[in-house]
Amino acid sequence: MNFIQTRGVDNSKPEKVTFSEAILSPIASFGGLYVPENLPNLGEAFLNKHRNSSYKTLAKDMLDAFAIDIDSAVIDEALNLYDKFDDASNPVPVVKVKENLYVSELYHGPTRAFKDMALQPFGIVLSSIAQRLNENYLILAATSGDTGPAALETFKNRANVKVACLYPDGGTSDVQRLQMVTEDAANLKVIGINGVFDDAQSALKRLLASETFKKALQEKDTKLSAANSVNFGRIIFQIIYHIHSYLELVRQNAISMGEKVYLNVPSGNFGNALGGYYAWKMGLPVEKIIISSNENNVLTRLIRDGKYDLRGCEVVSTTSPAMDILKSSNVERVLFDLFGEARTKELMLSLEEKNFYELREDELARLRELFDADYCTGEEGKKYIKETFEQYDYLMDPHTATCMKSYETCSKDDIKSIIYSTAEWTKFSPVIANALTGEVDTKDIDALQSIAKVAKLQIPSMINELFTKEIAQKTVIEKEAIEEEILKFL
Ligand SMILES: *Cc1c(COP(=O)(O)O)cnc(C)c1O
Repeated sequence: MNFIQTRGVDNSKPEKVTFSEAILSPIASFGGLYVPENLPNLGEAFLNKHRNSSYKTLAKDMLDAFAIDIDSAVIDEALNLYDKFDDASNPVPVVKVKENLYVSELYHGPTRAFKDMALQPFGIVLSSIAQRLNENYLILAATSGDTGPAALETFKNRANVKVACLYPDGGTSDVQRLQMVTEDAANLKVIGINGVFDDAQSALKRLLASETFKKALQEKDTKLSAANSVNFGRIIFQIIYHIHSYLELVRQNAISMGEKVYLNVPSGNFGNALGGYYAWKMGLPVEKIIISSNENNVLTRLIRDGKYDLRGCEVVSTTSPAMDILKSSNVERVLFDLFGEARTKELMLSLEEKNFYELREDELARLRELFDADYCTGEEGKKYIKETFEQYDYLMDPHTATCMKSYETCSKDDIKSIIYSTAEWTKFSPVIANALTGEVDTKDIDALQSIAKVAKLQIPSMINELFTKEIAQKTVIEKEAIEEEILKFL
């Protein structure tokens, strides 16, 4: 299968590219993105066929349907990484919370957040392409806390790939920081920045666009790539778990085959929700995809009013930091799918130039046929964490908790909901401890212990061990010094 471009063709790139090419240089003409030329239509026959399949069998068959230019053996090796999840026989457990509410737990991988779902296999795929081409790649990552650990974990000791990971020093949780700075593989460099996440992200964008930086890399026989969530190499692995979660409900006799469900997704860059959208296009019975946000509620306003409006908007820091995003990159792929390349280009350029676009009434109606949205404040989120724990004995993290609000406001009682849980309680423990016990300003290690006590849970060993592991990555610098630091590392 080939990949085409969301904003049309400016002749700076080929009209169509292969999957490998779309992965290695994910930015298309006019700054657009790559999308599959057509999606395989799997339909109910596929669902029936995989009614009792393991996660990996389902995944393999779905990936086969995309006919991507990756060797079957490489795909097998990539999918085998799901064996390292808590339960190799079911990497994504779907848990009943109450009568019509199910949680699909996407956080059972090595770094305890949903980024592992896609980045774990992506690491193998990218490294294999680099080896095939006999090229060396530098992967740049900027993280507010979850992407960094997952990217380091997947690329450590992989051939032909090095990673430089930028994080805001003091801007992540202790657990997230320790997950990064205790990584000691020789092909990884972790750089703390004196600044906030936006500084790290702007530095990354500057480097990706810088000709002098590319030249300097060339001298070191290295090309540049990025592992951010617009990369279709990540998106493709995010379609699978939506189908799997649906089939889990069938297996649990919660629904009958063909019955529609809500997919309720805590959203930031819209990769997770886009995976659900593609699954629906491929034949998954979905009533609506409900987009949940925090106080950074641009997506709620888009889906309710048709306006993507960033004028006078600033990112606010919330209790669900992985969703503190204003420019939600993957929305562009839905716009393309619904309205075509000319309109997508027009809307995206308007967003870039005027910080604003507005859908026409008929366009909004089409968007709303499949999407609904609401947002949840940090205080509301904590109330949902406490209530859900006390009433249903289910502990959720602050990102997942944003879905509880939209579950109440956007869904009908007689249709089952799948809420996607994107992080384990261990990753955002101070907020959860505060929600459960009222304690404030707790350090992660103390918060973890108090939650474990209240909820009668064990702290997973990979989290506990972080606090005594040696710090291998000690670099913390000013943002002006990043380029030099990376070149020194190479
Ligand atoms: C990345 C992330 C999200 C947002 O996912 P998108 O695919 O970017 O919408 C939500 N929750 C957690 C914990 C995350 O790490």
